[in-house]
This record gives sequence, structure tokens and C-alpha cells, in this order.
Amino acid sequence: MRIDLHAHSNASDGTDTPAELVAAAVAAGLDVVALTDHDTISGYPAAIAAVQALPAGRRLTLVPGAELSCRVDGISMHLLAYLFDPEEPAFAQERELTRTDRFRRARLVVERCQELGAPITWEQVERIAQAGSVGRPHIASALVEAGVVATVSDAFSSDWLADRGRADVPKHETDPFEAVKLVRAAGGVPVFAHPGAVKRGRTVSDQVIGELAAAGLGGLEVDHIDHDEPTRARLRALAAELGLFTTGSSDYHGSRKTVRLGEFTTAPQDYQALLDQATGARPIVG
Ligand code: AMP
Ligand code: ZN
Ligand code: FE
Ligand code: FE
Repeated sequence: MRIDLHAHSNASDGTDTPAELVAAAVAAGLDVVALTDHDTISGYPAAIAAVQALPAGRRLTLVPGAELSCRVDGISMHLLAYLFDPEEPAFAQERELTRTDRFRRARLVVERCQELGAPITWEQVERIAQAGSVGRPHIASALVEAGVVATVSDAFSSDWLADRGRADVPKHETDPFEAVKLVRAAGGVPVFAHPGAVKRGRTVSDQVIGELAAAGLGGLEVDHIDHDEPTRARLRALAAELGLFTTGSSDYHGSRKTVRLGEFTTAPQDYQALLDQATGARPIVG
């Protein structure tokens, strides 16, 4: 079983359509893929249709999810949510709030970039983001198009888009304790995304991870491109201590990042632990 529990489509800052993501998952030999766009579930209908339309003999299970933008003690963090009831109103409202604020903030980030001399426009960013949940990676792509930086990754320097960088503007982010509650109340399972990704800025302490576990966190994403081996070992030990399952996932963004779909995967027993905790929705078996 090859299980990848973190992937983005162009419903947020990935470059594949949901249907292309499903095709890429089949091509990568995956048995299970999760769709986890930032603060949105708008990719679900197309992804579900694509899984259900797969020819016989090309089985793929789709786990519907989302990746929530959170902040605690001034530290930005991401919370993956799986198999929640997409209609549950309180959680739906919180996703909507963050999405709406992403537009306000993205316009301001573009203005900052312009003030700093980057020849990009809001129209360009709108074209790049299409109808997706707009984020800094779209603006990073605009900076690449304009020749300001060479790669999307280079745009995340303190000169431009990094957290607290010259062109960064804060957006609405949910308190993770509140987010864990919202996800559980919608029958979903919350997993801390890339908790040790130091290249993105400060990371949350083990003590706060322990408090999140006590508040209902289900798992930690351990095998991730942004974690080195000592970080993975430390997080695996912490998860065991706290009774959390661990996941491995690519955090695929299509051509916007270099990681390949299925480059990191989750063990079947950890996937089973996630399924056992979910009551809000079931995976879609194609
Ligand atoms: P936003 O959601 O608009 O705040 O942008 C955050 C997104 O930018 C994350 O989900 C990552 O995909 C991407 N990102 C953050 N830091 C980096 C980095 N250092 N290099 C590349 N991408 C990054
Ligand atoms: Zn992303
Ligand atoms: Fe993330
Ligand atoms: Fe992600």
C-alpha cells in the first residue's frame, strides 16, 4: 500500500487541477492520496469525479482533507484536517473567513512588492491563482515570471515573502486549539503538518504539541521534505510518547515545488489509526 496524505491542487497553490492530481497519483503508483488544499475544499467535486471515472484496474482511494492556516504564540503552523463533514457550519465558516482574508492580504503583499520595485501586478497574480485560495506561492510565481527571483523557493527569502520578510503581510490564522476543536466537532481528524520545518521560520515547542495532543490532535506529520533525519527521529519519539500516530507525505504542489507525489508515504497502520478516528466523512474508493 502506497499512501500519500498531503497534496495540493490548483484549488489552492498547487499547479495540477484536481483531476490532474488524481491522474498523477495513479501514475505515481499510489493506492491512497489525500487532497489537502489550503483553507478550501473547492477541489473536492472534480477530484471525486476523477476518482470515480478511473478505468477498472486503476484503483485509487481519495481522502478528502484540507490544510488550515494557524498561529500560536506568534508562530505560524499548519494543521491538516481529514475526513471531516464538509457541511458542518462552524468549521465551514472558519475556512471561509481565512479564504476571504487571503484576498485582502494578497493585494497588500502585491503592493509591498511593487513598492520594493518588483514589476508584478494584481491581475498577473489573479491569473496565476485562477479561482484558487490565493497565497504567497502564487505571488512567488509572479516574482519568478517578472525575473525578480529565479525560483519560487528563492522568493521566500527575508527580502520578499518569508514570514516577517519585507513584503510579508499577516493573514487571518486560527488558534490551533480552536482549529483542533472545530475539526473534531466536524468528525474530522487533525494532524500537525510539518511540525519541524525550521526553514519556514520558528517552530512550535514540544510542550505546545503535548497540549495540542491533550486537546484532541490525532497525529504528527513526520516524514516530510522539510524535516532532516534527526528531526524525524525526535518527532517519532514525541508522537509515541503522546500516543499520536505519524504520517509521511509529499506535500506535493505540482510544478511549484520540486517534491514528487508519493516521495514520502504513510504506513498502513497509521492510515488505519486515522480512519478509526474519523466520523465526518469516508474515503472515496475509485
Ligand atoms: P500562505 O499560505 O500564503 O501564507 O503561504 C504559505 C505557503 O508558502 C506554504 O504553504 C508553503 O507552500 C509556501 N512556503 C512557505 N515557506 C516556504 C519556503 N521557505 N520555501 C518555499 N515555499 C514556502
Ligand atoms: Zn501550499
Ligand atoms: Fe503546509
Ligand atoms: Fe501543504
